[in-house]
Amino acid sequence: MNPVPHLAVIGSGIAGLSCATMLHRAGLEVSLFDKARSPGGRMSTRRGDDWQCDHGAQYFTARHPEFRAEVARWQQAGVADLWAPRLWRFDGDSREHRASTVERFVGTPAMTAPARYLASTLSVHAQSNIQQIRREAHGWQVCSAEYGWLETRFAAVLLAVPAPQAVPLLHQLAPELAALARSAVMRGCWALMLRFAAPVNLSFDAAFVNQGPLRWIARNSSKPGRSGEEIWLLHARAEWSEAHLEDEPERVAEALLDAFGQLGGPAPQEWTAHRWRYADTEPPLEKGCAWRPEIGLGLCGDWLNGGKVEGAWLSGRALAERVLRSFVKC
Ligand code: FAD
Repeated sequence: MNPVPHLAVIGSGIAGLSCATMLHRAGLEVSLFDKARSPGGRMSTRRGDDWQCDHGAQYFTARHPEFRAEVARWQQAGVADLWAPRLWRFDGDSREHRASTVERFVGTPAMTAPARYLASTLSVHAQSNIQQIRREAHGWQVCSAEYGWLETRFAAVLLAVPAPQAVPLLHQLAPELAALARSAVMRGCWALMLRFAAPVNLSFDAAFVNQGPLRWIARNSSKPGRSGEEIWLLHARAEWSEAHLEDEPERVAEALLDAFGQLGGPAPQEWTAHRWRYADTEPPLEKGCAWRPEIGLGLCGDWLNGGKVEGAWLSGRALAERVLRSFVKC
C-alpha cells in the first residue's frame, strides 16, 4: 500500500491549481484532471494567427495577504503584472473617467500564464473529462470520457469545477454536497473579441458599462506584455447574456458591436464570439470550501468563495488546508 496519500483534483482552473499546489508541497501525491487542452479554466486566452485575447477573467485583485504574497511570486516569475488602464464608466447619459485606487493584476503575457506556471510542477492530465467517480473499498476511482475507469485508487477526490458541473458527479454519492452545488446560480456571458488593422483611438483602455447589452470593454493590447494586433474585448452583461444564450453568434455580435459603436468604438476588421455558459455566480456563496473527511470528498472553486479569481485561489487553498488536517497526522 502506498504510504503517501494519492489525491485526485478534478479541474485545473486557479482553484484546483492552488489546492493541488499546496497538497503537493506538503508531500502528498496529486493528480489533476481537466477536460480542456490546457490549464487555467476561466482565466483564459483565445489565440489566433498573430493575435491573442483574454476572453474570460479580465484582471484580478489581490487583497488577502496570502494571495498578495502568491501574486508577488507570480510577478517575480514574470507571469503576472499590474495593469493600470485608463478606466471609464458609461452610465446612461453620463460618461466619466473613473479614478481608481484598486490594484488590478493580469497574467503576462496572457491571462493563462499564472495557471501554466503553477501547472508546470504538477501532474496534470489534460483532455480528461471526468464523467463519474465512485468509492470502492480501496479508495476512489475516476472515469473519464476519453480513457474510461482509471486503475489508480485515490484517497480523496476534490472537485474544483463550476457548481453545475459538480452536480452530476455528486448527486448519488453525497446528496448534501450536490444540494450545495445546486444552490449556486451560475450565469452565462457572451464575449466578443475584436481585431483591428490599426490602433483604435479611444480615450479609454477599459470601461464598465451600465447601459444596453454591454457590461465591460477592454483594450486587450493595453495590458502589459501583449504584442501583435490591436485587440479589444467586449463582455455582455449577465442578464442580457442569459436572455440571448442560445442566439447565433452573428446576432450577438451585431448587438454588441452596435452598442460599442454608440460609445465611439469603430467597426472591427474581424470578430470572434465566445459563449461562457458558466461565467459568474449570483449571489456567490461565502463558504470557502466544503470537505467531507469521512468519505474523502471535497469541493472548491470561485462559486464557494466570492466568485472571482482571488476567491477561487483562496478556496482551493482552504480546501487543501482541511484535507491536510485529515491526512497529515502531527
Ligand atoms: P474554472 O476556472 O472554471 O476551472 C474549472 C476547471 O474545471 C476548468 O478548467 C474546466 O475545464 C474543468 N472541468 C469542468 N468540469 C470538468 C470535468 N467533468 N472533468 C474535468 N475537468 C472539468 N474574475 C476576476 O477576478 N476578475 C474578472 O475580471 C473576471 N471576469 C470574468 C469574465 C468572464 C467572462 C468570466 C467567464 C469569468 C470572469 N471572472 C473574473 C471569474 C474568474 O474567471 C473565476 O472566478 C475563476 O477563474 C474561477 O476559477 P475556478 O478554478 O473556480 O473555476
